Amino acid sequence: MPVRFSVGGRAFAGSGFLFDKDGTLLSFDHWLAVMGERARQLAVELGLAEPERAALLQFMGLDPARPGAANGGIISLPRCDAEEAVAMYLASRGKGDLAAMRALAARVFREVDEEFPFDRHLCPTTGAEERLRAIRRAGGKTAIVTHDTASAARRHLAALGWEDLVLAVVGLDVCEKRKPDPASVLMACDALGVPPEETVMVGDTSGDLLAGRAAGCQLTIGVLTGLGGEEELAPIADVVVPDLTALRII
Ligand SMILES: [Mg+2]
Repeated sequence: MPVRFSVGGRAFAGSGFLFDKDGTLLSFDHWLAVMGERARQLAVELGLAEPERAALLQFMGLDPARPGAANGGIISLPRCDAEEAVAMYLASRGKGDLAAMRALAARVFREVDEEFPFDRHLCPTTGAEERLRAIRRAGGKTAIVTHDTASAARRHLAALGWEDLVLAVVGLDVCEKRKPDPASVLMACDALGVPPEETVMVGDTSGDLLAGRAAGCQLTIGVLTGLGGEEELAPIADVVVPDLTALRII
């Protein structure tokens, strides 16, 4: 049974609800702490002296002088791009050859994935949990389509107690084609058993929305809780909303 919902002053019905993860269901804030821990472990492994450690932190998107503050950097890159950027950065500074630095970055990123206390740092965007619950209660099917790995995304869901709120996860380890390519969106539709024309794609970047369009989703919703601003999302979204509370199940 399709779920009836309203958004942007219009009423719709849909069976599948696909969400990007970072910036859409979760705020970006936890990435500061995750990146900080990745940098700390890399500095320990490589025995970096203070100026080098500070430079690495800076490169990875944190302000070494102000703990908890962001400076941009590579923090918003898809995880595998961030890993590669760190490996290239360390190799370019003579810490080892590129192959060794790739192996080190891969290991440290994986270890932080496994050990980081996500339950203390993850922060859902406004309305995210409540709306996922409402969709599930109404019989809708939900999935995450992310450029993080599906395994990391599942850890995040477990840390939040959201395992039952999201039925399928497609990450870059499951589908290597990136949004705006529609492949990951189509794979999520398949996993939910819902045709694209009965699904809604929700995301904070143009890539999310273009992927939804290319897949043939019935509706694309841009949310302003992440990276994309209104001027970026409005031309390619059917609706742009400040946050997920604007998506109302009726
Ligand atoms: Mg995002």
